[in-house]
Amino acid sequence: MKHNYLFIVGGVMSGVGKGTSSAALGLTLKAKGYNVTAIKIDPYVNVDAGTMNPVEHGEVFVTIDGDETDQDIGTYERYLDTNITRINYMTTGRVYQSVIERERNLGYKGKCVEVVPDVPEEVIARIKRAAAEAKADVTLVEIGGTVGEYQNVLFLEAARMMKSEDPEHVQFALVSYLPVPPSIGEMKTKPTQYAVRTLNSAGIQPDFVICRSSQPMDEPRKKKIARFCSVPTANIIGAVDAKSIYDIPDIFEKQRFAQSVLQGFGLKPKQGDLKRWRAFTRRVREAKQTVKIGVAGKYFSTGDFTLSDAYISVLEAIKHAAADQGVRVDIAWLNSEEYEKEPKKLKELLAYDGLLIPGGFGSRGIEGKIAIVNICREKNIPYLGICYGMQCAVIEYARNVLGYKDAHTTEIDSETKHPVVDVMQDQKAKLVKDQYGGTMRLGAYDCKLSKGTSSKKWYKDEVISERHRHRYEFNNAFRQELIDAGLVIAGVNPKQDLVEIVELKEHPFFVGAQFHPEFQSRPLSPHPLFRGFINAAKSRGGTGE
Ligand code: GLN
Repeated sequence: MKHNYLFIVGGVMSGVGKGTSSAALGLTLKAKGYNVTAIKIDPYVNVDAGTMNPVEHGEVFVTIDGDETDQDIGTYERYLDTNITRINYMTTGRVYQSVIERERNLGYKGKCVEVVPDVPEEVIARIKRAAAEAKADVTLVEIGGTVGEYQNVLFLEAARMMKSEDPEHVQFALVSYLPVPPSIGEMKTKPTQYAVRTLNSAGIQPDFVICRSSQPMDEPRKKKIARFCSVPTANIIGAVDAKSIYDIPDIFEKQRFAQSVLQGFGLKPKQGDLKRWRAFTRRVREAKQTVKIGVAGKYFSTGDFTLSDAYISVLEAIKHAAADQGVRVDIAWLNSEEYEKEPKKLKELLAYDGLLIPGGFGSRGIEGKIAIVNICREKNIPYLGICYGMQCAVIEYARNVLGYKDAHTTEIDSETKHPVVDVMQDQKAKLVKDQYGGTMRLGAYDCKLSKGTSSKKWYKDEVISERHRHRYEFNNAFRQELIDAGLVIAGVNPKQDLVEIVELKEHPFFVGAQFHPEFQSRPLSPHPLFRGFINAAKSRGGTGE
């Protein structure tokens, strides 16, 4: 089978949605009847994204096989509607690690191992392996950062080598940005021209330029870029800011982007159907009633800015479920620390139709989270607790229903007499040795659901499989006591007997999951727990328009 590769690189500046553009293009290529996979290359030295601060890096997305990756992998999974595994994600650290291990094992048979070509060759081998494993007709390879940065030079070199070896099966797209400086009032193409020149100096000529902008690109601008960058006008693709990121595939379709990419590979569309996708975007547009959802976390602030990037999959999963339930969502990002400093603020939470506590680590803000769980439990506010959010629900129940005032997770209080959430035995040894990277309980595990629970009602299945990322667990030593006090154990890992889901009886919706359901929600198959949560929020009121 012949594999085709489209490299996507960034110019001008980062953060303009290279991942979303790539994923949206992937969706439209797939809709034309081709098998598509996507690879993300991050130029940093970290072996994976797992050890990075979420405020700095954004969400750590977990694959089914337990890799801690960049959030773009999540974007690809959602648009391509497929599971992506660890071979599709690489960093400088990971590539060098393989090269060095191979050298230590005499894999280079005594030869002097050099940065060029041995490092780009490892990159190429990984790209080809991912394409082969996915049996992909087209593999999208997104190189993180922007051209001209020192750290992605070896990846660009790998791409250039692939092109020169097999020119008919390798193409390049540059994602650029066209600013409209307010003082000038005109859309400027010069930064894009410079970015193309920089790419040229790496020996690469783009076949496509994807032009991100806040206003639509006009014909004169398009022609200018085509002329000065030697790219056919039809391959200058406008990507104006969209109201919803789900509209981007259609924006590309109107410009026949996927057709042109296929044509570049000598392929023709086999079919042309975005019907199901369009039905989804229509549902998003047409929803009338609005539900108010609060997400309480702490990884928001950078300087004066609030970013929700650390919770991107949660945000997307809420949107998928909202479309499914025919509502719009108004999401408020709540800083859990504020509920510790001003307990009076808790009253304001009664105005929400649903509250969600996503994954988290460490002591900052945890008492605020526990207080939020308390108000949800007592005032019947729909609650979805994810990972730390589930652990907080267990702590809250032990403190306020069982009366163990010092109940805690040993992550925060290692001396507590009531460690209702405790570190797993095998984790202890790793922590003692400072082995933090890639050592949590990661990836997909089975969970058996109990009859008569909300989880069972929404999942409909007996056994489910969900992705994990944590070191601490519900402590089985307190299980019977908590059950006797009314806590419902709705899901258990059958092999290790670990509690995976807790619920409350006689509550509109109160579910805490040790796993991360958000990683498996897709626009066209919204996640059952998010559907249940939004459904309950809708019943609570939803303000309407
Ligand atoms: N800090 C908790 C743990 O490690 C929860 C992790 C999470 O929420 N992803 O178990």
